[in-house]
Amino acid sequence: MFQPILRNRQSTSNTRRLSGNTWFMKKRLFTPGPTPVPENVMLRMAAPIIHHRNPEFMEILQRVHEDLKYLFGTTQPVVVMTCSGTGGMEAAVSSLFKQGDKIITINSGKFGERWGELVRIFTGNCIEEKVEWGSTISPERITELLNEHPDALGICITHSETSTGTASDVKALCAAIREASDALILVDGITAIGAHEFHFDDWGADICVTGSQKGLMMPPGLALVAISERAQDIINNRKGLPQYYLSLKKALKAHASNDTPFTPAVSLIIGLDEALQMLRAEGIENVWHRHAQLAGACRLGCQALGMRLFSKSPSFAVTAVWLPEGVDWKQFNKTLKTRNGITVAAGQDDYAGKIFRISHLGYYDELDMLTVIGGLERTLSMMEIPLKTGAGVCAVQRAFLGD
Ligand SMILES: *Cc1c(COP(=O)(O)O)cnc(C)c1O
Repeated sequence: MFQPILRNRQSTSNTRRLSGNTWFMKKRLFTPGPTPVPENVMLRMAAPIIHHRNPEFMEILQRVHEDLKYLFGTTQPVVVMTCSGTGGMEAAVSSLFKQGDKIITINSGKFGERWGELVRIFTGNCIEEKVEWGSTISPERITELLNEHPDALGICITHSETSTGTASDVKALCAAIREASDALILVDGITAIGAHEFHFDDWGADICVTGSQKGLMMPPGLALVAISERAQDIINNRKGLPQYYLSLKKALKAHASNDTPFTPAVSLIIGLDEALQMLRAEGIENVWHRHAQLAGACRLGCQALGMRLFSKSPSFAVTAVWLPEGVDWKQFNKTLKTRNGITVAAGQDDYAGKIFRISHLGYYDELDMLTVIGGLERTLSMMEIPLKTGAGVCAVQRAFLGD
């Protein structure tokens, strides 16, 4: 439902110079999940519900399965599960491994930390490698780790670490892992799929997970899990951990007949069909290119506003920046949200109140970057932080149009 924010006219009289009509504004979402949903996707999902075992739905699911292979760069199955992305991660760990299995996890932020939490719960044998936030692990260090732990059966990595806005070189990491060991490679691709180049088969990953509310331009509620041939063998012959709903074995069996083991989120899968058609029509290389361009412009815009970048290897999905010196996060966020209608993501853990994160993942275009940088600039102005008016927006325009 369209819900403009209406504010008290009186309280805004002192800001009228800054913002013209200050008592009406649109809400705009710039968080790296959930991300905005295109109107055509919402309209498809608004159609009357159909039964999941009728041919009409199974035809849609079959098309979704094919388009997901295109998205992940694989000829192997990508199963659709009704749960958020974390459910897909849990399904992978609990379907592939058993109690005592030694698994290496790379923790360079909240989501790498999550792999470790899952492994500790399910196998109880986690070798966690901590990496400084904003940095990535090198292929050399991965090789070292695998040499130190030749009995590791799996290694869990994160392609785009959303908590720090940092992308790792998954191609190089997979190559290093494959060279050094037979460990299964589990990739959290939740904010990378649809933003960063990814080739599941060619790079030799065994599992890659994403979620509907990230690069797929969908509401939350689905996890998508790509599964390699050797991972399928292990899953199908497993005598491993107890599990029921989040079973990749059940999901794979149903996938083979374009079915799901349980009642799926029918409307979301229908919406996903629409979203995947959009990505296909744009072409996956163009989708990656668009994200690289938007990320580049966003970084320049932020820097022009005097904000330093947080990540040493910035993601194309989300830009993490330091709050300007002396700016209070709570006041900044409140002004951004209630007086400019813009929602961004806060910093987490040690970086709460110090950094914030701007999404350009999914349904965003060039003018959206002008909007968010313009919104940040208005917010800083409203907080009376000295700025050259238009500096941020100018940097974004230049990024797209040239000088
Ligand atoms: C959002 C996110 C997750 C968690 O997904 P949920 O859908 O919230 O369960 C995991 N990893 C990364 C990198 C994410 O961005």
